[in-house]
Amino acid sequence: MKLALEQLINDIEQDTKYTAASTGRARFSDKVMSALRKVEREKFIPPAERANAYQNRPLPIGHSQTISQPYIVALMTDFLDTQPDHKVLEIGTGSGYQAAVLSNLVKEVYSVEVIPELAKKASETLASLGYHNVHVCVGDGYNGWSNFAPYDGIIVTAAAPKIPTLLISQLKPNGRMVIPIGEQWGAQELMLVTKAANDSIQTQKLLEVSFVPFVRN
Ligand code: SAH
Repeated sequence: MKLALEQLINDIEQDTKYTAASTGRARFSDKVMSALRKVEREKFIPPAERANAYQNRPLPIGHSQTISQPYIVALMTDFLDTQPDHKVLEIGTGSGYQAAVLSNLVKEVYSVEVIPELAKKASETLASLGYHNVHVCVGDGYNGWSNFAPYDGIIVTAAAPKIPTLLISQLKPNGRMVIPIGEQWGAQELMLVTKAANDSIQTQKLLEVSFVPFVRN
């Protein structure tokens, strides 16, 4: 297991180098890589796929959804530039893996999932592993999660045609959002959205990606 995990970390580091021309980061921070090392990915994967848990690729988690590729999880987490006192919103809980990685880096993680069965399973997995600072709710992430807004960071793990304005409004000044933007199953770009102290918005393209679509209720 340990060897498989170290191989996965290696693969992520290789991908990070290969994509540096596009993302602008040739290595991710030590704290992000150690947060990834701490999470047992196999615990977030259905038994039939568990043997593949430490491969650097997405895997099916049921309901036509996937747990993201570990390199992509590292990339998105790194670009949030988290601090230990941060409150982060995730849209698309899925398996709960990304939320678990974030839970090692920030104070509170709020995560919204549209498929009730996935939200329930992820909550159970996270609770059983002791990730008590992750809060999961069932809902349409297009609306964010206003009860706990504003957030220092927002991470969206399904591709939307454009940046949902409600998510922008739930971001703090100086906050950062990482979100895949593009057509369903078509060309998508992972974007970094930053909100300045005066609430103006800047966007930066990080990488071409392929995410499951953001569904609307
Ligand atoms: N972060 C997840 C990856 C999940 S894949 C992980 O670490 O495993 C994307 C997830 O987004 C799916 O579970 C899908 O059901 C969810 N999703 C899609 N549209 C959504 C929406 N409008 N609101 C909330 N979740 C949504």
